[in-house]
Amino acid sequence: MKRPTILVLGAGYGGLTTIVNLQKLINTHEAEIILVNKNDYHYETTWLHEVGAGTISPDKARYPISKVINDNVTFVIANVENIDVNKKKVETSAGEFTYDYLVIGLGFEGETFGIPGLKEHALSLTNINTARQVREHIEYQFASWILDEVKDDSKLTIVVGGAGFTGIEFLGELGNRIPELCREFDIPQEKVRLLCVEAAPTVLPGFDPELVDYAQEQLRKKGVEFSIGTPIVEATAEGVKIKKDEGNTEFIKAGTVVWAAGVRGNALIESSGIESNRARIAVHEDMRAPGFDDVFIVGDCAFLLNEETGRPYPPTAQIAMQQGVIIAKNIKHIMNDEPTEGFVYDDKGAVCSLGQEDAIGTAFGRKFTGKPASALKKVVDDRALYLVGGVGLTLKKGKFKFI
Ligand code: FAD
Ligand code: NAD
Repeated sequence: MKRPTILVLGAGYGGLTTIVNLQKLINTHEAEIILVNKNDYHYETTWLHEVGAGTISPDKARYPISKVINDNVTFVIANVENIDVNKKKVETSAGEFTYDYLVIGLGFEGETFGIPGLKEHALSLTNINTARQVREHIEYQFASWILDEVKDDSKLTIVVGGAGFTGIEFLGELGNRIPELCREFDIPQEKVRLLCVEAAPTVLPGFDPELVDYAQEQLRKKGVEFSIGTPIVEATAEGVKIKKDEGNTEFIKAGTVVWAAGVRGNALIESSGIESNRARIAVHEDMRAPGFDDVFIVGDCAFLLNEETGRPYPPTAQIAMQQGVIIAKNIKHIMNDEPTEGFVYDDKGAVCSLGQEDAIGTAFGRKFTGKPASALKKVVDDRALYLVGGVGLTLKKGKFKFI
């Protein structure tokens, strides 16, 4: 009898966790396991704010996929171009694939909500290349300002759209990096403006108010200004327009605009033949797509309601990894004609970094700030490495400067 083919698309947190668990559970006689990813490396999406600010190098935030997969897995470096679940076909730059079980883990894209000019003029922290572009762009603005005969200080203004976890973590890193950049490029620091623009009435909407106050105060000390309750309504090559009270608008001239105001699933989902909303598929409890028992969705392309709160689980790496474990088990269950298991979220808390040595977080039923919270964030980062690549990868790529 032909071995079934398990095809996993994407080697982010969800896809790679599925793969490393599949390779433990299923041997080459039982199934052919194929992983397709556009790069030969995995990048730590959760470290992209550091790459974007330039506080770590892009290489620190990535590692070769070959280091964490074994001979049970065929790894294909290719761009997925189309998914058709009705025909059970996946087209890629390396040819066409079919499957018996498909796992889609192609991650997220920035959500621009149709706001004019954002796609063309704003930068983002969506993958390692866009994060590198943010870093290079800021450095270029600094390098060219010093050469300009007639100086336009708005070149040194950085606007961050969105004060969710991504925006706040990025501003925390920038707060550390700007003094270094000013020294490097001989720029008086008072010329640099860091502005966070948030649509909601508070930064980090929904997070513990005491911790939010701490975060805002710490960022202010690093020179961050806040414009709260003022959505960005347009971006141009020159900056952004924000909406203020009573419909008034203000234009903010800025050399750099980074859009960190929300995410959606990978656009390939929308033409896959499965119903979706903002490219996220409302999966069954066992992570299967509705109407397609052979298709599993993992990570940011999946939408799942938390029955206790009635609200969707947020798109996080923590959840993507837990889903990957369940999906690997469920594929094995189906192959053994056993019932599948439902996804049960084990909430380990949330930590938001505010630069290299500061953070806020909730875990073990407690609140953390400052160095203890920052140490906790590093433990969380190291744990993700450990779960995929064991002690070896953690020692090679981990963060160990805890105090
Ligand atoms: P991803 O990790 O984005 O992986 C998708 C993979 O698919 C990538 O390898 C990509 O190269 C590949 N891919 C995409 N398109 C194609 C294609 N067409 N063909 C082939 N391959 C493709 N969450 C937390 O829990 N904790 C945190 O501390 C945290 N920090 C974050 C910090 C930042 C700056 C950001 C932006 C997000 C953070 N998140 C955090 C959220 C978290 O990163 C995401 O929820 C998580 O990455 C989702 O995992 P995923 O596997 O669905 O997708
Ligand atoms: P988000 O959706 O959590 O936050 C986006 C923010 O942008 C919101 O505060 C929203 O009000 C604001 N916004 C929306 N439209 C706007 C506009 N027009 N102008 C100005 N502001 C606007 O997005 P995110 O921060 O990118 O996070 C995405 C996911 O990744 C979340 O689930 C988050 O929890 C997760 N994440 C986690 C961590 C962590 O755990 N440390 C870090 C980063 C991201």
